[in-house]
Amino acid sequence: MRRLTLLVLLGFVGTGCQRPIEELEPKLLDEVDQSQMDLEQKVDNTEKTEEDSIENNNRDFYEDITLITNPDSYLVLVNKNNALSSSYVPGDLVVPNILNIDYRVGYNIFMRMEAAGKLEQLFQAAYTESKLTLLALSGYRSYEHQAQVYNEYVRLHGQDEADRFSARPGHSEHQTGLAIDVTSESAGRKLNPEFGNTAEGLWVKQNAHRFGYIIRYPLEREQDTGYDYEPWHLRYVGVEAATEIYENNLILEEYLGKW
Ligand SMILES: [Zn+2]
Repeated sequence: MRRLTLLVLLGFVGTGCQRPIEELEPKLLDEVDQSQMDLEQKVDNTEKTEEDSIENNNRDFYEDITLITNPDSYLVLVNKNNALSSSYVPGDLVVPNILNIDYRVGYNIFMRMEAAGKLEQLFQAAYTESKLTLLALSGYRSYEHQAQVYNEYVRLHGQDEADRFSARPGHSEHQTGLAIDVTSESAGRKLNPEFGNTAEGLWVKQNAHRFGYIIRYPLEREQDTGYDYEPWHLRYVGVEAATEIYENNLILEEYLGKW
């Protein structure tokens, strides 16, 4: 892991610095473009099960929003009803020593220190135990970056659709520095539900808890999490919590007993 100075970090993520995010994170729009086809496919698939749509939930997503008071906790609950302050930036972000989707080590990816260390162990174990290569796509995202991502999805798909797979700014776990999106060559190096059926996706599902990570948005829990199935989105909660969540098939809200 490589530690960064706060100055370098702030310059990079574009919070309060003079350089625009687009210059510093040129991958962002590519990322949006790349996932468009997958998302369009997802829309087609989900139309068939409209009755089960999260739009018919009774959880009142994005209503009665609470400002999070423990943003530095590894068990922080960030969802559609619990928001991080727009000024929150984790104080211990580092670059994990893992491959990204271009097979570059750690490029453009930041995680909180403990989560980064465990993520390195997870990637390493996938390879040494099962000869599987995981690729990371997206770790820490600033509030401003998330706003840009979300607004682009709203522009492309409309707000109702965008809300099913993209968080509004302040509501993304990526702002905690504890969430990472992973994929594999076998999933086309993309973030799509098919990743969950690849050898890499299955390994992650069965082993992530050993390293303190959970699949945050499991299959068939859309009405409770507020998000479509995301086998690629891993959230660090610590080994003890992750193991209990994995063994009892819980979502984080159930483990914490709050929504
Ligand atoms: Zn994610």
